Amino acid sequence: MNLDFTDAENAFRAEVRAFVRDALPPAIRDKVANGIHLCRDEHLQWQRLLYERGGWSGPGWPKEFGGPGWSPVEQYIFEEECALGGAPRLVPFGIKMVAPVIMAFGNRQQQERFLPKILSAEEWWCQGYSEPGAGSDLASLRTRAIRRGDKYIVNGQKTWNTLGQHADWIFCLVRTDPEAKAQRGISFLLIDMKSPGIAVRPIVTLDGAHEVNEIWFEDVEVPVENLVGEENKGWTCAKFLLGHERSNIAGIGIAKRELARAKRIAAVETKRGRPLIEDPLFAARLAEIEIDLMALEITNLRALSAEAENKAPGPEASILKIKGTELQQAISELILQAVGPYALPFMGAAPGPAHAANRAAQYLNLRKLSIYGGSNEIQKNIVAQMILEL
Ligand SMILES: Cc1cc2nc3c(=O)[nH]c(=O)nc-3n(C[C@H](O)[C@H](O)[C@H](O)COP(=O)(O)OP(=O)(O)OC[C@H]3O[C@@H](n4cnc5c(N)ncnc54)[C@H](O)[C@@H]3O)c2cc1C
Repeated sequence: MNLDFTDAENAFRAEVRAFVRDALPPAIRDKVANGIHLCRDEHLQWQRLLYERGGWSGPGWPKEFGGPGWSPVEQYIFEEECALGGAPRLVPFGIKMVAPVIMAFGNRQQQERFLPKILSAEEWWCQGYSEPGAGSDLASLRTRAIRRGDKYIVNGQKTWNTLGQHADWIFCLVRTDPEAKAQRGISFLLIDMKSPGIAVRPIVTLDGAHEVNEIWFEDVEVPVENLVGEENKGWTCAKFLLGHERSNIAGIGIAKRELARAKRIAAVETKRGRPLIEDPLFAARLAEIEIDLMALEITNLRALSAEAENKAPGPEASILKIKGTELQQAISELILQAVGPYALPFMGAAPGPAHAANRAAQYLNLRKLSIYGGSNEIQKNIVAQMILEL
């Protein structure tokens, strides 16, 4: 196993770095730096710039579908450089979730209809998996689709739907056979958000943001041609998608960027007249997090190296998810500690230095990391069963 980057990979890193430096609009960079949510147009603007660079908006896409055809290592470098350069994370639902499912299980007509518009950022997708009572235990979902002629009639409710207020399309898991065993009677449907009978209701989270929604379906008509794969076999698509959802989830680049920010803030904030970064307790916690981050990076590179040798990513993705999200949360906690009382008014205009604005909101927002994408408790169960064989 060789964890060093090759000359070609280092050259690729320089190319991505230069592109992000030159192409990323400063307004977007500023918002990311200050932990402010981007609007729909800003997300799409960045995605379009990447698209125009040669399909870079689909880092994991093969050339066949218009992507750059990068190796797992190149994808890793790309995501790290984007994060370090202050770019926003690509909204994953179209690019990283539904697109791989359509590539693997969709028919040619579906591939031609949907994939180009996902890559070029013409259509925004959201994910309709979770329901009240069906989150970790996804297979107990109850949203019902009944076939009538060449249409499905969909009724039910999805929840925790991220950014669905912007979406043109939603991919949903629906129950098509209530008699079958839980996993067997589920289908994977692509639903136009403009369909009559869909209602999107905001859920405002602790940080005051409207990032998630409830979505209600009342007699929504979906053409049968929008079924991906076979009826009642949607669980296969669901599991395949979840595998993709967890790839690159460690967020090493973001953690590095935020750790550097924590150091910068701690160098200017003071405790008893000395820079906070010189405080032994603060410095020790900073060092502990930095060491954990270095260890996680090596673990991530080991997983990538196995992937490059065509060994499918296995349960180690769960380790990356647990540790990566814990570290991002820990860093946000450190920053909160560093800005001290300036963090208290966490909504609206705040007194204090610019680096303190939005930090509390960001801290509260990041509590989601250990829940979505499969909660960390569930990931720990996977590690216990599949790796430790407990
Ligand atoms: C901000 C945010 C955005 C999200 N975006 C989306 C989205 O866009 N689309 C979408 O479909 N979903 C989305 N989700 C939903 C997310 O995937 C679920 O919240 C997650 O799967 C957990 O499900 P739950 O909330 O129903 O919790 P539950 O499954 O009810 O779990 C509650 C608690 O019990 C623990 N637990 C449950 N079962 C076990 C077990 N067997 N062993 C040990 N512990 C267990 C869980 O880890 C958790 O701590 C989002 C969630 C959040 C918070």
